[in-house]
Amino acid sequence: MHDVISPVTEEVVATVPATSAEETDAAIARSRAAFERWRVVSPGDRARLLRRFATVVDEHIEELAGLEVRNSGHTIGNARWEAGNVRDVLNYYSAAPERMTGRQIPVPGGMDVTFYEPLGVVSVIVPWNFPMPIAGWGFAPALAAGNTVVLKPAELTPMTAMRLAELALEAGLPEDVFTVLPGKGSVVGQRFVAHPDVRKVCFTGSTEVGKSIMAGCADQVKRVTLELGGKSANVVFADADLAKAAAAAPYAVFDNAGQDCCARSRILVEASAYDEFMALLEPAVTGFRCEDPARETAEMGPLISAQQRDLVASYVDAADVAFRGSVPAGPGYWFPPTVLAATSTQDPHWREEIFGPVVSVLPFADEAEAIRLANDTEYGLSGSIWTRDLGRGIRVARGVETGNLSVNSNSSVRYWTPFGGMKQSGLGRELGPDAVAAFTDVKNVFFSTEE
Ligand code: NAD
Repeated sequence: MHDVISPVTEEVVATVPATSAEETDAAIARSRAAFERWRVVSPGDRARLLRRFATVVDEHIEELAGLEVRNSGHTIGNARWEAGNVRDVLNYYSAAPERMTGRQIPVPGGMDVTFYEPLGVVSVIVPWNFPMPIAGWGFAPALAAGNTVVLKPAELTPMTAMRLAELALEAGLPEDVFTVLPGKGSVVGQRFVAHPDVRKVCFTGSTEVGKSIMAGCADQVKRVTLELGGKSANVVFADADLAKAAAAAPYAVFDNAGQDCCARSRILVEASAYDEFMALLEPAVTGFRCEDPARETAEMGPLISAQQRDLVASYVDAADVAFRGSVPAGPGYWFPPTVLAATSTQDPHWREEIFGPVVSVLPFADEAEAIRLANDTEYGLSGSIWTRDLGRGIRVARGVETGNLSVNSNSSVRYWTPFGGMKQSGLGRELGPDAVAAFTDVKNVFFSTEE
């Protein structure tokens, strides 16, 4: 058994089982057996079950959101969005089973037909920062494609995933089609990678663990999707609406207490606008509402653990703090929103993913330097460009090597559009219209027409 701790009260909120390797293997075997039944459910019925699952999630938004506030310290507003995202993603992919049409390809001597075949048992490994949405981005398209799913939540945040598995049954999904196995990465996650009946690993987490998972999957040429770390740049040109860019910048990095792979944790400001931008940024940071995340007005809660708080603090201790916000006294793994003035691109806080409410700011001289600095990282997940010059917005967007960019906005995730990283931020794409195909293999069947 494993204690789940509230990052707000530092008290135990639940005790959950730690699934063993043998129990994981048994669950994979049940999932494999269920696959034979699930893959032959007619597309219309599979679609109906996924829509029903979405409806049941919708009926439990408040309960799921409350669980996430207690388990993860997310603000209630964010947690409601996260539960709603699971519902929306299920609804979106419920349209897929009836639209998985292959092709008919004329070839010499006959005709070729392609089919999208489900893979079998698909595993989803989830990090602790967004337990609900990241689970849904994996399991919804995988189920829609006709796979069964085994899912491992992070050790620190298993509560909502376990509840979602119960809601799936309540919605009528057959037994063992969607299984949640709380436990350790080195036990449950490792079995997902090594077990031959698991045909794909859909992993979201750190780049370090992602690399070892990719290496493990190579052994069986197992399909793998990797959504990894980030150190995204928020590039602000002097011709931008500076007030808007500065007002939005804290939300782009302090949301979810900075525990966001898409966090714009590097702000690049054109030198001629640097002082004005910093003057506008300061009140937006000092006014950021860090308070009990259960309160409707909360904009930021605590970090997930004492260990994470110590790690975040280690980046700030030696750095030049420009200004910072404030957090409640008393229990909870709080860390104030903090703005650092970068002095060199070699500063650890400029280079490394901190995964906390810390942002570094650096001036740049011109467009070419902005692109060079934005790309001077091993990561490439998200980023923003603020400018009123449309041509420049397009040029810089094409020049920055990241998978998800927004111009005059800080949004990264929309379930209608593909999401994923370049360079060491990942491999493959989730969400968007092509995600279901990523959970299939294309088969071509040739029909000879020769007499
Ligand atoms: P982590 O890599 O430590 O763990 C992620 C998951 O992998 C957990 O469920 C963990 O138990 C499991 N795991 C650990 N070792 C394993 C192993 N050897 N085999 C199989 N599974 C194993 O990451 P974390 O600390 O939970 O999450 C933070 C990281 O996730 C950050 O780097 C963040 O950028 C990244 N992240 C990326 C995205 C994205 O979409 N690109 C989204 C969210 C988080």
